[in-house]
Amino acid sequence: MAISTLAAAAGSNIDHWEQRIDLACAFRWAARWNMHESVANHFSIAVNEDGSQFLVNPRGRHFSRMRASDLILTDANDPSVMERPDAPDPSAWALHGGIHRRVPHARVILHVHSKYATALACLKDPTLQPVENNTMRFYERIAYDLGFQGMGLGDEAERVAGLAGDKPVLLLGNHGLMIMGPDVAQAVDDLYHFERACETYITALQTGQELSVVSHAVAATTAQQWLDYPDLTENHFKALKEILDEEEPDYRD
Ligand SMILES: [Zn+2]
Repeated sequence: MAISTLAAAAGSNIDHWEQRIDLACAFRWAARWNMHESVANHFSIAVNEDGSQFLVNPRGRHFSRMRASDLILTDANDPSVMERPDAPDPSAWALHGGIHRRVPHARVILHVHSKYATALACLKDPTLQPVENNTMRFYERIAYDLGFQGMGLGDEAERVAGLAGDKPVLLLGNHGLMIMGPDVAQAVDDLYHFERACETYITALQTGQELSVVSHAVAATTAQQWLDYPDLTENHFKALKEILDEEEPDYRD
């Protein structure tokens, strides 16, 4: 029996095993894409209907080494999990838990300080203009938080959840970004394409030349074409898992 199959057999005794594997895959690829920040930042997935229970990464484990069994099952109504030595930061626990409970489409939340999205978040006007395919994918699908007040303030969850609306991306001004999705495959695909969109946009700005911004109609049509594209996120995520299965299958442990 292959190592990964053995691990899966052992892990089948742990709840939410498929979600654990998917989220571990997301961590590994965020590291491969150089979107990690030291051993900080958090990814989480809600595992009950009202979002009060969710899996999140433990404190101190690098994204590149995350395994399915490492993820901590937390319960917003049971703060005792925060007494574990590897408990997530209290601010992350409060923020992710608060958003899972308040934003219905945020079953999965990925928070990073990736280079180009964060560069965009540093601009006085961080509006991502529709200038090519990837930027158009997010046309009218980004919420902006321009009220940065420092790290982990008390009422952040309520404030941030209120801003998110039904958007998959929340650009956190002076900070980074948050991707919210119905499942890990969708969230990872949005994370990848949003960072690519920001990379292209920031690079185009750096030329100092005038941007060729398309019309509302073209941008809206293209955004809808992205949404209608068949099996896009599923195929992407399947390919990402296949690569890990071959090159670092211990993410499934
Ligand atoms: Zn952050």
